[in-house]
Amino acid sequence: MDIIHLLPDSVANQIAAGEVIQRPASCLKELVENSLDAGARNIQVIVQDAGRTLLQVIDDGKGMSETDARMAFERHATSKIAEAADLFSLHTMGFRGEALASVAAVAQVELLTRRQEDEAGTLLEIAGSQVLRQEPAQAPVGTNFKVKNLFYNVPARRRFLKTNTTELRNIITDFYRIVLVYPQVHFLLVSDDEILFDLPAVSLKQRIENVFGKSLKKNYAGQLVEIKADTPMVGIGGFVGKPEAASKNPQQYFFVNGRFMKHPYFHKAVMTAYAGMLPPDHNPSYFIYFSMPADAIDVNIHPTKTEIKFADEQPVWQIVQATVREALGKYNLVPSLDFNREGDIDIPAPPRNMAEVSVPQVHVNPDYNPFVAHACKAAAPVRHWETLYPDTAVPQQREEPAAPLFAAGAATLSEVYAYKDKYLLCPQENGLMVVDAHRAHVCVLYDTFLRQLRNRQGLKQQVLFPEVLDLDTADACLLLDIMDDLNAVGFDVVRLGPDSFSVNAVPANIDGAGAMQVLMNILHTVREAAGTVRGEWEHTIALSLANDTAVGCGKTLAEPERKDLLERFVALDMPAFTPDGKKVFFLLGNEEMDKRFQ
Ligand code: ADP
Ligand code: MG
Repeated sequence: MDIIHLLPDSVANQIAAGEVIQRPASCLKELVENSLDAGARNIQVIVQDAGRTLLQVIDDGKGMSETDARMAFERHATSKIAEAADLFSLHTMGFRGEALASVAAVAQVELLTRRQEDEAGTLLEIAGSQVLRQEPAQAPVGTNFKVKNLFYNVPARRRFLKTNTTELRNIITDFYRIVLVYPQVHFLLVSDDEILFDLPAVSLKQRIENVFGKSLKKNYAGQLVEIKADTPMVGIGGFVGKPEAASKNPQQYFFVNGRFMKHPYFHKAVMTAYAGMLPPDHNPSYFIYFSMPADAIDVNIHPTKTEIKFADEQPVWQIVQATVREALGKYNLVPSLDFNREGDIDIPAPPRNMAEVSVPQVHVNPDYNPFVAHACKAAAPVRHWETLYPDTAVPQQREEPAAPLFAAGAATLSEVYAYKDKYLLCPQENGLMVVDAHRAHVCVLYDTFLRQLRNRQGLKQQVLFPEVLDLDTADACLLLDIMDDLNAVGFDVVRLGPDSFSVNAVPANIDGAGAMQVLMNILHTVREAAGTVRGEWEHTIALSLANDTAVGCGKTLAEPERKDLLERFVALDMPAFTPDGKKVFFLLGNEEMDKRFQ
C-alpha cells in the first residue's frame, strides 16, 4: 500500500505559519507591510493584550475586490509578482503571498475591505483556514483586518509566547523599523486603549524626533547630521548623531531599499568614521538608508530574518565610512579633516557569511545552580565555573590550556604585589601568578550579584533625590520586564507613568553618582543580548553590573584589598575566563622563567 499523501491546505498553512508568524509582532509586521504596499497614507494599529487577543490594522489603501478578498488567503496568492524575474525588481515589502494564508491558519480573522470603484465592500470571516462567512458590507475605502486570538488552535505556540511586556516590546521594535522608513505615512499605535504613538506625516528628521525625541526631553533632531552619497553602486542617505550626543544607549538603524537590516560589517564602517571622537563606552545613534539596485542584494530571504547580504560589500564599506566621516567634518565636528585618508584606514575584509559576524551569545545552562554549595559553606569553591559558558566565542584565547598549572584553590596568597595598578602578582610554589585585577573582580562581583538577584537579597541604599528616567517606549517595556530583577539586586525602580520611572534606591555597593549610568548600561546590554527569557537576562544583568562596578585600571589597591580580592577569586575556583570570555590570569612557570635567562 502506498503511504504518501498530500497534506490538507489547513495543515500545510499551519506549518508555514510556524515560520512566518512567530509572535504577535511578526503578524502585525505582515499586516502593516500589506497596508503600505496597498498605498495607505493612514495606518492605525490597535492591539489588545500585546496582540494575544486582538491585532487590528486599519488602512486607507486601495482595498480589495470581493474575489481578491477571498484569494488573498490562499497560499502563494499575491498581486505583487507574477514571474521569477519580478523578484529582481521588487518595489513592495511583500511578495511571497504567504502571510495572510499563515495568519488565517492560526487565528480568527475578520476582513472588511472596499475599493474606491466598488459601491459595497466585502466582509469575510475565516478561522483555522476555514471560510466562515463572506458577504457584502458597508465599508470605507481601504482595508480593516482584525486578527483575534492568535494561535487559538495551536496551544503549544500560545504557551510559548512571552510576557505581555515582552511581546509588546517586540511589537514596538518592529513598529520602529517600519515607521522610520515611511515618515510620509500617518501611523497610530494603540495598546489596550492607550495611544502609544500618534505619528503624523512629516519629514524623516521630524519622524525620528517624534519617535525618540520625547524620551530625551531635549532636541533630539538637533543632534543629528544629515548624510548623503550618490554613487552608481549605492545611494546613502539619513542621519548620524553628533559625537557629543553619543550615549551608552544609542539608536542604531540600517535600512536597505526600505527594509530594516542588521549589518555588523557596515556598523564597523560607521564606528571607524567616528574614530577618536567618542568618549569611552559611548556610541553614536545613526539612521542610515541604503538604496541599491535590486539585483545587488539578496532580498529573497526569510521574512523574519534581518540579515541582508550585499553582492559587493567592501566598496560599500568604504563609501559608508567616507560618507559619515565627511558629514561629521562638514558640520565642523572634526577639527581638521583629511578626507583622503582612506589610504591609512584598515578596511576589514567582508565576512564570508553572516554566521561569522553575528555577535557571540552567552548560552547558559539554565539548570545549573552554582550556589547550592554556598548555602552551607560560604567559600565552597565552584568547580569548573568557566564551563558554564561553553559557547562564549573567544577561540584564540581558548587555544591555551584553561587549566591552571596548579590545583585550583591551592594557590598560595602569602605575598601579593600590585603592578601598574592593573595586575596582581602572586608568587606560587611553581611560578609567578599574574592576575588582571579588574577581571578577577568582575568574576567575584558577577558571582555575588547573581546570587543576590536569585535570592532577592540585594542591599538597597536610598538616594536623597530620586532620579526620574524618561525612556522611549521600547526601552520602557524592557525596563518593566527586568524591573523585578533590578529591584532584587538592590535598585528600587518604580513606574511613574507609561514611559517614566523613578529610581529611589540603588545597590549599596554602587556609588550614587554612577548608578544611573550603571542602570542604563544594564538596559542597553539586555536590549542588545535580546534574550527574552528570564534566566538569560539574569546573567546579563549580573555581568553588566559586575563590569561597571569592578575596580578599574588605575585604582590603587591597598595590600589588604588585594589579598581580599584574590581570596574571593580563589574561593570561586579561579575561573580562567570572565563570564564574557576574557582571560583573567596566567602562570609564568619557574622553568619558563629560568629558560629566559639562558
Ligand atoms: P504578499 O504581501 O506577499 O503578496 P500576503 O499574504 O501578505 O502576500 O497578501 C496577499 C495579497 O492580499 C496581497 O498580494 C494583496 O494583493 C492583498 N492584500 C493584503 N493586504 C492588503 C491590504 N491591506 N490592502 C489591499 N490589499 C491587500
Ligand atoms: Mg504581505
